[in-house]
Amino acid sequence: MDSTQTNPFDSHIANPRINGFSYPPDARQIAVGVYIAFSSAVVFTLCINVVDQGAARVYLVAVFTALLLSMLGNGFALSCSNPVDPHVSAVWKSGVEGKLDEPPTDDRVSKFCWVCKAHVETDSLHCRYCDKCIPRLDHHCFYVNNCIGRRNYGLYISSLISIFLYSSAQAAASVVSFVAAAQKPSKVGAFNLSLPAFQSIVLIPGILSFAFSIFIADLLRLHILLYFKGMTTLEYSHYLDERTGSKTMSIGQVLFPKKRKAKAIVPDTADVEQEGI
Ligand SMILES: [Zn+2]
Ligand SMILES: [Zn+2]
Repeated sequence: MDSTQTNPFDSHIANPRINGFSYPPDARQIAVGVYIAFSSAVVFTLCINVVDQGAARVYLVAVFTALLLSMLGNGFALSCSNPVDPHVSAVWKSGVEGKLDEPPTDDRVSKFCWVCKAHVETDSLHCRYCDKCIPRLDHHCFYVNNCIGRRNYGLYISSLISIFLYSSAQAAASVVSFVAAAQKPSKVGAFNLSLPAFQSIVLIPGILSFAFSIFIADLLRLHILLYFKGMTTLEYSHYLDERTGSKTMSIGQVLFPKKRKAKAIVPDTADVEQEGI
């Protein structure tokens, strides 16, 4: 890079988000929180109460509590994580901005980010939502409002697995309690609801959880595919863009690539790096 080059982002003052709880929240993040609160309340106050046997009920409470705590623990840890490039966090801590013509501090860095004002790792990309560089940026997840990169990718996958297990169990509990309630003589659930009211309430999170579990299963399938391709979600979406000629990424393109017309082009890493500024 030419050392006489001037900063093309002079007018941009970096305002990085620290993690998923940094202000402002995303509407999708709030929607997920509301869904978890609503579906958990329905499971614990209505679905499990249909079971008459005390021992079976205790067992179900224990299973759902473990699944819920696992999902909340993983989601909380992922939201709290900060996958920033360590060379950028070093600039934050020291308050000393890097300079383009300074020699790199170690052989892992190969490019300079004008916004972060730091030499960053070879595979770091600058997230425009978090306004900071992330090593091996996979994507920005709006459901936790945080970046997914090398430093928190394992947490992301364990979060997906725990969400899949919880939402699948939640959907199954809704179906089973919906059917079992019809065999009850009168009022059902902790609030002595009429049968139509009970079935209507358990059906809503049941349908949502079923759809959610299908969506998460497809995401897991995508990440298994990415593992074998050795690509990130961003690289794969660029690859699909090249194949289809599309300029925007859609979830359908990522999840159902076989439905698109094929044109064999190997992903160009230079194109991806350009996004890293
Ligand atoms: Zn940056
Ligand atoms: Zn981000």
